[in-house]
Amino acid sequence: MRRKMVVGNWKMNGSIKQNEILLQGLIAGLRDLHDADFVVCTPYPYIGQAQAMLQGSNIAWGAQNLCSAKDGALTGAVAPSMLVDYGCTHVIIGHSERRALFNETDDTAAARFNAALEVGLIPIFCMGESREERDSDWTDYIVGRQLDSIIRRFGPEVLKNAVLAYEPLWAVGADEPATPEQAQEVHDFIRKRVARCDTGIAANVRILYGGSVRPHNAASLFGMPDVDGGLVGRASLVAEKFVPICEVANG
Ligand code: PEP
Repeated sequence: MRRKMVVGNWKMNGSIKQNEILLQGLIAGLRDLHDADFVVCTPYPYIGQAQAMLQGSNIAWGAQNLCSAKDGALTGAVAPSMLVDYGCTHVIIGHSERRALFNETDDTAAARFNAALEVGLIPIFCMGESREERDSDWTDYIVGRQLDSIIRRFGPEVLKNAVLAYEPLWAVGADEPATPEQAQEVHDFIRKRVARCDTGIAANVRILYGGSVRPHNAASLFGMPDVDGGLVGRASLVAEKFVPICEVANG
């Protein structure tokens, strides 16, 4: 039985004051929810604030990216071990905004994925197709290629310590999510593709759905058999929205 999970992706939002209000709301709102896992992925400068406020709570914290190198002359980059120093347990890898706006490729995402694992961070590995790719019936090809970029390099075993996220680009930051049936279809495809390599790992790996998850649509999405929770952008910035989504996941 897979435990559900909700991850908040704050993207480039927040301020010390706003974060304080949000995190206080999350601590209070999630305090009694013990049947699912909750994570917030903050901008780098606020990871220390998340650590200070969340340690001892049932909310984990993480980052939205990392550098695949350990250290060195890489101005502006953040090493995996630095995230560990600040108590991070998770890191988002290969988000569609990184792929589209920051030249992330299957190769660089795979290198980051591996760098996260090497320091004991749990990578949340994002996959998803664009509207044009879906309309051309390329969804399986694109998502399969992105998943294979990890499995071919590192083997299916790495998925024991990772979380997968299906985020159709056309639903991220949009008005409407994928329908529960559309999400289920791709999640089923992902799980079956992992099962071609290892059925036990496929049965256990968590596959989150991301793209316009809201309190009113979380139950129908998370109710699908292969949807193990959500990766949530905008609705993770407001406790009054994020908490009800977490309540759905908690059951
Ligand atoms: C995201 O960027 O990971 C995301 C799912 O965003 P939103 O929930 O705002 O669509």
